[in-house]
Amino acid sequence: MAVSMASSPSIPDEAFVFLGAQSARRTGAARLRQAAEKEKPMNSRIYFDHSATTPLDARVLHTMAPFFGGAFGNPSSLHHEGRVAREAVEKARAQIAALIGAEAEEIVFTASGTEADNLALIGAVRASGMPAHIVTTAIEHAAILETCRFLGQQGTKITHLPVDAAGVVRTESLLRELQSNVTLVSIMTANNVVGTIEPIEELAYLTKLHGVLFHSDAVQAGGKIPLDVNRLHVDLLSLSAHKLHGPKGVGALYVRKGVKLSPIIFGGGQERGLRSATENVAGIAGFGAAAEIARRELESESARLAKYREHIVRELARQFPNFYIFGHPLHRLPGHLSFGFRGQEHRCGRMISALDAAGVAVSAGSACSAHHAGEPSPVLLAMGYDAERARGLLRLSLGRFNTEQEVERFLEILLRTISSRGLESHSRPIAAAESLAAAVV
Ligand code: PLP
Repeated sequence: MAVSMASSPSIPDEAFVFLGAQSARRTGAARLRQAAEKEKPMNSRIYFDHSATTPLDARVLHTMAPFFGGAFGNPSSLHHEGRVAREAVEKARAQIAALIGAEAEEIVFTASGTEADNLALIGAVRASGMPAHIVTTAIEHAAILETCRFLGQQGTKITHLPVDAAGVVRTESLLRELQSNVTLVSIMTANNVVGTIEPIEELAYLTKLHGVLFHSDAVQAGGKIPLDVNRLHVDLLSLSAHKLHGPKGVGALYVRKGVKLSPIIFGGGQERGLRSATENVAGIAGFGAAAEIARRELESESARLAKYREHIVRELARQFPNFYIFGHPLHRLPGHLSFGFRGQEHRCGRMISALDAAGVAVSAGSACSAHHAGEPSPVLLAMGYDAERARGLLRLSLGRFNTEQEVERFLEILLRTISSRGLESHSRPIAAAESLAAAVV
């Protein structure tokens, strides 16, 4: 039967260029970035949507490549081919464990961050064998909120903790809930929409004092801020490879030794019986390489990206008195900036389209919000914004291959886009500290 390709979207030529592919064997993000700059066509697109997904690092691709070719074995097989695959899976397990201060046998591979979240919540409720109560927040990703909705329909009590205007979970409200019987507390490490980092160490510590399990969705935080499962006191922690320059379709759940979980997928008993299915060896090997690179380069990369973000904030605050930022001013992901222009919220969607047409990819909140276009972000509503303000969010999330030149080019394009759309610009110089304070809602 002929397969029609007529409706396939066309893939542009530049998509076949792998950033830094010329130097895949060289280590160091800076050298890779230089090589990537050379490989990128002039005026190439600027990708500022790393919270949605990240480009695969060429070093990761290099690690994955053999598993699409000669190294095709099944890790459960006992022969040579199987052992080669098993070795790659176990190496990756140790690399991911090292990123979060865990032991290798505490890492369970899944097919996504979403699945890791599902396994944590459904697995803990089923393993408890009692009427369950999950305490979570109103600002979680859909992978948590929808899993809670499902469990709620099955009889689990679900409580959503409130957050303050910066998106920080209120400790007092958690303490109040911990007075009753709670099965599991699930609070994200960093929010995907506003970039706020939650005080997990404190929240999990209080939870553990009450003998309750603590899960954190660290899909946005993994590889971007230092994470140590012991310092954080977490029992369960979700990660996803494609948010740290690894491949899509691979996730992991950290399960502290001794924590009881029931599987949600049944079959051959892989992953200590917690996640049956033949392992995605290439994806897992890529995840391991991505985790190792992220761990090595975390300090320098987070400083570099935070510097770019501060520069963008200062420039926008200098140019636009109605500019404001969403989320916590200090406790936020390094390359992440969510902002709006007071009184211009209704133009947000058109601004994102205009930026896209001008070669810049930014987003309106989260990739998932594309399924709910036009609806105000539930995260911002939970933070106390009204529906109008909650529709006016632009999200920039920078990553490893972004350069200073791109930041400058982005600012030029944004200013041009805004002035051509009639948003007023004021070049009044404000002291940096004042501009930041003015920018924070
Ligand atoms: N949790 C958070 C906070 C996320 O931002 C995402 C994805 O955007 C997910 C979970 C889901 O991860 P995945 O895309 O690997 O399913």
